[in-house]
Amino acid sequence: MRPFCYREATRRGLAGFVLNDLAGVQIHLEGTSEAIKGFINELRNNPPPASRITGINLKEAEEQGLRGFRILKSEAGQASQELQVSADLATCHNCRREILNPADRRHRYAFTNCTDCGPRYTIISSLPYDRPKTTMAEFKMCEDCQREYDDPSDRRFHAQPDACPVCGPETVLLDTGGRVIRCGDPVEETVRLLLSGKIVAVKGLGGYHLMCDALDPESVERLRMRKRRPHKPLAVMCANIEQARTLARISGEEERVLRAPAAPILLLPWNPDVGEDIRAALAPLNPGVGIMLAYTPIHHLMFATDLEGKRLNPLVATSANRGDEPIIADERELFDKVGDVVDAVLTHNREIKNRIDDSVAFLHPTPSPRDGVGTPKEPRPSKMRDSLHLIRRARGFAPAPIETPFCFPPSLAVGAEMKGSFAVAAGNRVWLSPHIGELSGRASMEFFEQTLRTYLRWFHVEPEVVVCDAHPDYLSTRWAERYAEDKGIRLYRVQHHHAHIASVMFEHEIEEDIIGLALDGTGYGPYPADLLRESAGTPDDYSSIWGCELLYVHDRGGRFKRLGHLKPLPLVGGELAIRRPRRMAAGVLADLFGKDKAIEMFGKEGEIAGKLLERENDVLRVLRGVVRWVLRASSAGRLFDAVAGLIGLVDEITFEAQAPVALESLCPADLSGTTVYPFAISDDLILDPAPCFAAILEDMEKGLAPFEISARFHLGFARVLVDWLVRAREMTGTSTVALSGGVFANRTLVRLLNNLARKERLLTLLPRLIPATDGGLAAGQLMASRALIELEPIEAQTT
Ligand SMILES: [Zn+2]
Ligand SMILES: [Zn+2]
Repeated sequence: MRPFCYREATRRGLAGFVLNDLAGVQIHLEGTSEAIKGFINELRNNPPPASRITGINLKEAEEQGLRGFRILKSEAGQASQELQVSADLATCHNCRREILNPADRRHRYAFTNCTDCGPRYTIISSLPYDRPKTTMAEFKMCEDCQREYDDPSDRRFHAQPDACPVCGPETVLLDTGGRVIRCGDPVEETVRLLLSGKIVAVKGLGGYHLMCDALDPESVERLRMRKRRPHKPLAVMCANIEQARTLARISGEEERVLRAPAAPILLLPWNPDVGEDIRAALAPLNPGVGIMLAYTPIHHLMFATDLEGKRLNPLVATSANRGDEPIIADERELFDKVGDVVDAVLTHNREIKNRIDDSVAFLHPTPSPRDGVGTPKEPRPSKMRDSLHLIRRARGFAPAPIETPFCFPPSLAVGAEMKGSFAVAAGNRVWLSPHIGELSGRASMEFFEQTLRTYLRWFHVEPEVVVCDAHPDYLSTRWAERYAEDKGIRLYRVQHHHAHIASVMFEHEIEEDIIGLALDGTGYGPYPADLLRESAGTPDDYSSIWGCELLYVHDRGGRFKRLGHLKPLPLVGGELAIRRPRRMAAGVLADLFGKDKAIEMFGKEGEIAGKLLERENDVLRVLRGVVRWVLRASSAGRLFDAVAGLIGLVDEITFEAQAPVALESLCPADLSGTTVYPFAISDDLILDPAPCFAAILEDMEKGLAPFEISARFHLGFARVLVDWLVRAREMTGTSTVALSGGVFANRTLVRLLNNLARKERLLTLLPRLIPATDGGLAAGQLMASRALIELEPIEAQTT
């Protein structure tokens, strides 16, 4: 803000000063009222891209007869500044113009940045943010750079990572043995390799990407094979919005987000002109493709490189790591873990101190509680507005704090297991960690601990409370138990879906009682004992795996009642049923209609299904009634799996939510006139999918196309969810509904649900900057624990 104020004030002949204080930025202006108005308008309409203005307070000041405009240092300001660490920012248009301009001293310089753009979080070792405390410390600024750095009128005034070809970091291209490939320009040589179908690891802001030509299915296939990632969608990086439009349909608002400094990966619908081979290579059986725009100078230089008239196509840009491990940011680790995947490595000597993945998001029209929500009991219908929904919160967002009206004691919430991330809170601020990966192995837990240490140190938080999931076997739970014991602090356990709903309350700043609809794959259910007694249903309906839950969250987010749930579906063979949707389907059919029906269906399905059943004895045992008891889950994810398995979409999944995504990908956009599959809701609010499966079986016998079955299922499920919510309103008198859980990444379902809910005058709230997936769970854990601390300050002590 300060260089911006300096420039704008000086330009307008205004005298005065600017300083940071605890409340924010203080600006004192003296001059004509016209010039002052002009300044304020500029501040309102064109603030610096990296800034976030939450409010402008104007006050008449005493005239001091000042001359000129100055940037003042302030002691109090230092303290406030210390807590602020900016997220990393995509290259701004000014810097981009410079590196592409042959006359500029930064022409083709890969580490160009300014106060509006460049690395921040990823290069900081300690605070306050100052060059010696970044990984730029080893590069001594040359005279030219120093001059820019010291000049308040320069756009590189106090730009800590400022550098140029004379004084800054350099790129280098390595072969698979780690030896330097001698060449004139490593970036140009990288482009040559990519154009010839090679796979190159490229060091970016937060870690390495594995890149290859996105329009060359053979290269993409080779990358998939080497990375052992047969089906999971691959993110694509494009040179600019024009190139992105060749792959996807992009709205005006989506364009704005793609080009914003955070530059996330946006999930976008396919451009209808894209060929089947390219779709199948990049994101098979997927309703769209994840695209981001080039966001570092290296990327821009690669795309701008012209080799005898040949330029790069869009590039696959997937993070370099194995499975769900953290992204790799270290050269040695890169060769260790994915050395056999790449043909070359474009790297550089600016160390990444804090690694971070790309963020993933989509835009979706959703009602906003800020558009006149009324009260939770009587929400006024609000306008639907395109808003950003993060699926993975990382680069461009972390570690910026979330300011909240709620006051938290110093606390730490550790999240769950999938999509691991933690949250740290103190007072009115919450810092969410970047996406860490699945907390199931040593590499992830180390990354978790390392990032946590950084957060606690930077933001001066010493937790007095630690919160975890109710699942006793999560590594994060065990870690939290040990941490609580070591530090002698209180531990709270918050049920998974309760935390999902509480995360929405946190983000939308709601403390009133609320209805929660949590739809996901898996979450540990029973907790505490009295809730089990309260929960509806017979012992048959008992299941410890939840995932399609109708909750009533009360006591300011601290407690919940399970109003209803999906009738638990059998997981025949446990984990195996989750991996094989057909097995899930067979189990459900046997359960709902008897074993004969299941054998009949899967017998008819032909060779594969028949063999599958024969080989897997436990399925047959269950189908023949030998085993009565089987693990069950009241999970929405498994319901989608069963439908996908029944129509034979996916044999064996290789990534989470693969079958539901495939099912959604079949669903046409226009559902007018579509038949609705029925579901039943019992008096005690158990959702029974039997009528739906009966209808699917009937349609399959008639030979109805899978896309039509998908459409009827999506519409039917959305319809019954809204009926369910209406019943919940009758019971509770509340019309505000929080939606959360990984299933809400299904935009078709979100769209149908929102539209139907509006007609019933229900206000449905989706999380936005906090992921609806388990990646946002920690925020909900904080919200719930904060209320619990006040409700049960003593009983909740660690037991
Ligand atoms: Zn810049
Ligand atoms: Zn320099």
